[in-house]
Amino acid sequence: MSAFVGKYAEELMKIAQYIVSPGKGILAADESTGTIGKRLASINVENVESNRRALRELLFTSPGALSYLSGVILFEETLYQSTSSGQPFVDVLNDNGVIPGIKVDKGVVELAGTDSETTAQGLDGLGARCQQYYKAGVRFAKWRAVLKIGSTEPSQLSIDQNAHGLARYAIICQENGLVPIVEPEVLTDGAHDIKKCAEVTERVLAAVYKALNDHHVLLEGTLLKPNMVTPGSDGPKVGPEVIAEHTVTALRRTVPAAVPGIVFLSGGQSEEEATLNLNAMNKLEVLKPWNLSFSFGRALQQSTLKAWAGKNENVEAAQGTFLARCKANSEATFGKYVGSGAGGAASESLYVKGYKY
Ligand code: 13P
Repeated sequence: MSAFVGKYAEELMKIAQYIVSPGKGILAADESTGTIGKRLASINVENVESNRRALRELLFTSPGALSYLSGVILFEETLYQSTSSGQPFVDVLNDNGVIPGIKVDKGVVELAGTDSETTAQGLDGLGARCQQYYKAGVRFAKWRAVLKIGSTEPSQLSIDQNAHGLARYAIICQENGLVPIVEPEVLTDGAHDIKKCAEVTERVLAAVYKALNDHHVLLEGTLLKPNMVTPGSDGPKVGPEVIAEHTVTALRRTVPAAVPGIVFLSGGQSEEEATLNLNAMNKLEVLKPWNLSFSFGRALQQSTLKAWAGKNENVEAAQGTFLARCKANSEATFGKYVGSGAGGAASESLYVKGYKY
């Protein structure tokens, strides 16, 4: 087995390492036009280009917030947009030390003969798209594979197909200068306990790293974006320390030390839960060869979205809310978050059954 060492190898390793700098993480703002439409509908805002742009401007120009971020994942439309004063978003991010990234998968389709299991699409023409994004200033990418837990799921077919898709995606990104964020998300839907989630997550991650190695992916120039190991949405609840222990154990068993960092998705947890869980992991006193940080979508944006409600006069308050969440998650990367003690928006569950991103 030998990792591919193309012309971008040094740059890939540097960028991956930078993204998981202590105290920093990723804002996932790559909601597709359909998904952002659902978010905007929840605050009675119309899903048109100007409103999508306004929300992203609010986030990217929040005073102080970008100092806690090292990367932002964009949807293609946003990559080419600018602030209302005409500054390209890519420049706003770069000027603040935040690396622009992009979602490159094209969503999921069902695997025939399974109970609604899926595989991600988007490999055709991916190399050419990566080149175009690189020219536009993008330096990392994301591909989300989705697996579900059921009495007979995930099937071996779904594990194999999703691992293969992630590996092909990862090597194509590396050939074209983008750090691949490898995202195998095991959904939280179900009544299973945390042990079941741990077992499935380990099986999935073991298959993913076998595939990445088979495809000669340079692990030092990648990042992993997994689910945290939690009970199912209808399963018996446990506290952050239990989640931390199961998650770190699963990762230690399956993720090679060559991977510089692991940036979790929030997967429907409330903002406060996601932060407390990340914090508990970073407090755990066991050997963790990778940095553990965040790449949250919903758990970084939900209370900000509510505070904004699509109104100009609320922008400042909404930006204050966003800053608070970014700072809280930054503290959690050091295991130093003490909790907001908040009821209210930050504690609201963001779980949606059968969620499609
Ligand atoms: P959530 O944090 O909302 O799960 O989204 C992260 C993400 O990028 C999913 O692909």
